[in-house]
Amino acid sequence: MEEQLNLAPFCYLVIEESYRIVEMNLAMRELIGTERPMPTHVHELLTTASRVYFQTYFMPSITLHGKVNEMFLTIKGAAGPVPVLMNTAKRNGHFECAMIPMTERGEYEKELLLAKRNAEKIHQETAEAYTKLQSLMDEVEKKQRELEELNASLQHMTTTDPLTGLKNRRYLEEVLSEMTGQAEAGRLLSLLVIDIDFFKRINDTYGHQMGDAVLQELSWKLLSETDGQGIVSRMGGEEFVILLPDTGKDEAHSFAEQLRRQIEHAEWLHVPVTVSIGVAFFEQEDNADSLFSRADEALYISKNSGRNRVTVT
Ligand code: GH3
Ligand code: MG
Ligand code: MG
Repeated sequence: MEEQLNLAPFCYLVIEESYRIVEMNLAMRELIGTERPMPTHVHELLTTASRVYFQTYFMPSITLHGKVNEMFLTIKGAAGPVPVLMNTAKRNGHFECAMIPMTERGEYEKELLLAKRNAEKIHQETAEAYTKLQSLMDEVEKKQRELEELNASLQHMTTTDPLTGLKNRRYLEEVLSEMTGQAEAGRLLSLLVIDIDFFKRINDTYGHQMGDAVLQELSWKLLSETDGQGIVSRMGGEEFVILLPDTGKDEAHSFAEQLRRQIEHAEWLHVPVTVSIGVAFFEQEDNADSLFSRADEALYISKNSGRNRVTVT
C-alpha cells in the first residue's frame, strides 16, 4: 500500500468479492485495535446488526452501480462499536472501501435529538400551562361577574323598600343631601310628604294584608303620576316622599294638588283611600332637615284642616 494511503486520516480497506480482507491502512487497524490479530473476513469487523444489513444491501448495490455510497455501518472498534460511513468502489476485481468514523457526529445528533425532545416537551408543557391559565382567567372573570351582580343586587336591596319596590328612606336621605347641595347652588327643588288618611281603619276593618295591598297600589299610582319627573320613596308606614328637582313652588303645588285629586278619584282594585300632602320648596336658608320639617309641618296642617288636602310652605 502506498505510504500516503496507509497514513491517510480515514480508514481504508480492500476486500475480495468473497469479502475476504486483502489489506487495510493504519487508521483502520487503529480503529479495530492493533493488539487484535488481523481479521481475515469483513464480517469479523461488523456488529451483528450491521452484518445483516451489509449482506442484504452491499452486493446488490455494487453489482448494479459498481459502487456503494454512504453506507452506514457499525464497526466492532477497539473501545466498542463505532458508527462509520462507508464508500466503496470496485477496481480490478476488488472492492476498495473508505470509511469515516461518525462517533462525534452520532453524539452530536443524539444531543440534537435530546434538545429537540426537550424543546417539544417544554412546548407541550407551556401549551398546557397556557390552557390552564386561560381557564383560571375565565373562572376569575366569571367570579368577578357574579360579584358584580351580587353587588348590584345588594345595592338594590339596601336602597329598595321590599313591600312596594319603591326607593327606601336610606336612598332618599342620600339623594336628598346631594340635591340640597345642588339647590344651594341655585337648582330648584321641591319636596312632597304624602300620608294616607285614616289608614289604620283599613287595617282594622280589612286586615293587615289588605293594608299592604293598598300600600302597593298607591305606590304604583304615585310612580305613574310622577312619570319619572321625580324620585318616589316610601319613608315607612303609610308615609311617602316625592322629591321634585327643577320644580318651583307653584309648579310643585299644582303637581301635589293634581296628585291628590287623581288619588281621590282613582279606580281602586281594593279599598279607595285619600291622601294628605305637605309641600316645601327649598329656600336659600334651608338644608335637608329644615326642608323636611317644613314639609312635615305642612302635612300636619293638611291633616288638621280636614285631610285629603295640600298645604304649601
Ligand atoms: P291619619 O289620617 O292621621 O294619618 O291616620 P292613620 O290611621 O293613617 O295614621 P296612624 O299613624 O294612626 O296609623 C298608621 C297605621 O299604618 C298604623 C300601622 O299599623 C299601619 N301601618 C304601618 N306600616 C304598615 C305596613 O307596612 N302595612 C300595613 N298593612 N299597615 C302598616
Ligand atoms: Mg296616615
Ligand atoms: Mg302616618
